[in-house]
Amino acid sequence: MKEDLLLLIELQECDSTLVTLLARKKILPEKMEKLDKDFLVFKENIEQNKKKHEELKQKHAGKEKEVKNINENIARAKQRLLEVKNNKEYQAILKEIELAETSCSDIETQIISLLDEMDNLSLLVKKDENTLNQEKQKYEEERKKLETAISSLDTDFADWEQKRNDLKEKIDGGLLAKYEKIKNRSNGIGVVSVWKAVCNGCHMNIPPQLYNELQKSSELLICPNCNRIIYYRNKDSAAL
Ligand SMILES: [Zn+2]
Repeated sequence: MKEDLLLLIELQECDSTLVTLLARKKILPEKMEKLDKDFLVFKENIEQNKKKHEELKQKHAGKEKEVKNINENIARAKQRLLEVKNNKEYQAILKEIELAETSCSDIETQIISLLDEMDNLSLLVKKDENTLNQEKQKYEEERKKLETAISSLDTDFADWEQKRNDLKEKIDGGLLAKYEKIKNRSNGIGVVSVWKAVCNGCHMNIPPQLYNELQKSSELLICPNCNRIIYYRNKDSAAL
């Protein structure tokens, strides 16, 4: 096969690979972004019990404070009892103490049920923490894989770009321009193989005479259907 054509085939491989790598360069960071977002949502959801537990803890502290205040009021009221002069006032203070004690006992009942609820939640929180840790580990492994893929992608891209530039230097300017022109109007593919008279670019049959010529001639031939540069390739022997 003509040396120029071999170089064009190599150039086509570079161009096609670069297109694929470019697509991956766009997709991988998007995947990374989605991975981060999904994990954040998962974390927020699974931390609901923990959040609820924190809220109950604050509520519990508030109730304890209320009990303390009421008890202080009761103590003060009992002190006042010792100083009252008439029975009416005495009865009023007793009533005040009774009401305070009732409300204190109500709050203590609420505290008991709060503590129960917190105990139950604690078990769930512990379970959630384990699940989160497992998920976090998976997430971090996945993220690391993506990071490695992204960084090796940059190296690969630079290598193929270099290879493409080196090849371009070796190819005749006129031929290169022709290839670029065909490639740009044909979905990025300028050179295609033909096997068993079928063009690999448009998947149409090429005329028998042209197929015959393609196998013998060293001339640059064009597919009459898709207008791409064609070369003969025996796919059975995998030879060019
Ligand atoms: Zn074709």
